[in-house]
Amino acid sequence: MADRLEWESLLTSIVHELPQPVEQEAVRDGSVVLVGGDPGEVVVRLTRSIATVSEYAVEWHGPHDPTVRPVTFGTVHWRRMPEVHAILAIQTLIRAARESRRSRYRTCRYCEIAVPPESLHDEDTCQACAQRHLGVVY
Ligand SMILES: [Zn+2]
Repeated sequence: MADRLEWESLLTSIVHELPQPVEQEAVRDGSVVLVGGDPGEVVVRLTRSIATVSEYAVEWHGPHDPTVRPVTFGTVHWRRMPEVHAILAIQTLIRAARESRRSRYRTCRYCEIAVPPESLHDEDTCQACAQRHLGVVY
């Protein structure tokens, strides 16, 4: 029961730390995967003993086959330490991963929206504007 409370409390804190909105998915092995931001910015996988923080990243295997492949920033063995330290460590990793992800965004010269690399047509044009203004077909 104490374990359960600890887990719930940590989960709530992580959701609070992540960029909104947060998408939460329960995995069959009992862990929970949290994706913060839309488009995704940070991914946290929480198991009964560890929390793994990753930068959200998309890999392309061909023009129509994007695969989410998060890049791991760090793993915290949260059960081995007081919750306050676990939260601080996770918080720092989330900030680092988010900063790294955001640094890859580019502002589109047409719509002036900052978009992640997987939504870019080239250095400074998003895919939507490439379709609209350049006649590119995806
Ligand atoms: Zn655009």
